[in-house]
Amino acid sequence: MSWYRMALENGTELLETWEGNRVERKAGLCIIAFLDVDWAYWEQQCDELRSGNTKKVWKPAALLYQRLCNEIGSLHPVLEVFARNQLIGDIKNLLMERFTADTNIPEWRYVDALEKGQPPVKIQEELPRLFLRQWSGRFSAFTAIQKKIVVLLDAVYDNTEKRKDLSVLQRYYLMRQENREYPIMSRQLYATLKTQFRLSIDGKLCEDEDPCVVASFDWARLAEKNISAHTYQTTDHLEALVLWELDDMAANGRPMRRCDYCGRYFLPYSVANCYCDRPVDGNPEKTCKEVGAATKHQKEVNADAAKNLYRKVNNRTQQAAKRYESKHPDVRKVNYRNWQYEARQLLEQVGAGTLDYETFAAAIDKTPKELLGI
Ligand SMILES: [Zn+2]
Repeated sequence: MSWYRMALENGTELLETWEGNRVERKAGLCIIAFLDVDWAYWEQQCDELRSGNTKKVWKPAALLYQRLCNEIGSLHPVLEVFARNQLIGDIKNLLMERFTADTNIPEWRYVDALEKGQPPVKIQEELPRLFLRQWSGRFSAFTAIQKKIVVLLDAVYDNTEKRKDLSVLQRYYLMRQENREYPIMSRQLYATLKTQFRLSIDGKLCEDEDPCVVASFDWARLAEKNISAHTYQTTDHLEALVLWELDDMAANGRPMRRCDYCGRYFLPYSVANCYCDRPVDGNPEKTCKEVGAATKHQKEVNADAAKNLYRKVNNRTQQAAKRYESKHPDVRKVNYRNWQYEARQLLEQVGAGTLDYETFAAAIDKTPKELLGI
């Protein structure tokens, strides 16, 4: 069985948590969470412990693991699987290979305590140094792949330079033509993905060997159950899911953006949303968005986006007014002019910074019939 299982459907990630429950997240969040972890920092923490001056590492190693679970695991369900299932799996494999399958030895009780978040029991130094080395290798590999993923994302989502007039899909096409790393990475990582078609019942994935939840003749009870079926990709390589999601996001033209304050990737909810919701470094009470909302930059972005939207909506409303004129004689001279007057006033408010883009868009991005009141 593989550690990770994810489906991507219509901009949603369907995931299995470390405890085996099905959850959903917005597509793109798996990539963002993977990029948000400072893998090099965790690599350094492991290396310092196993090769530094610390004489007894069994306890600090356990504390490090618990901190890692809390800090990484809270970012995304796949990272929680990584921390709580895969890293523990590494230790169990070492135990089987190098030690013994006898679960009464202190080493097995140590792993058991780590798994359950309990205080660890004292063990010899050999095992902690072995698993710290193995984890360090994983973090080091993730640091390298993280750098490559950022290059790919930048190529697809860079809208600041000369490619700003291209669509996400067009930039993705160019990235696939130009990037030398992409073919190597995709060949290696896609080879680790296996397709599974799985049923779930009341939000829980059905294992084929499960005893039947509802007897097939009990149709009334079956009707109470929520059954769904999805195509999942399973893998032991978290980074393969990240690359696959990147391909899916880009191919479907789904937006991602670098925050104009902290520079990290996030999922924007509108064309004018240029700051993320992360807490600001050094001021955790505030988010980038709160800090950025009042800036000149955000006002300019709002004003530009509002002007573009106004132009588009005005064109289609004016054309519609002309078309409806034979049926509604006043529609162009009265209804359209009134609407245009109001819309321009709102546009001025956006320019002055008293109205945000999202409120403006919600007020004017409607069908011509709604706007003209016919
Ligand atoms: Zn930010």
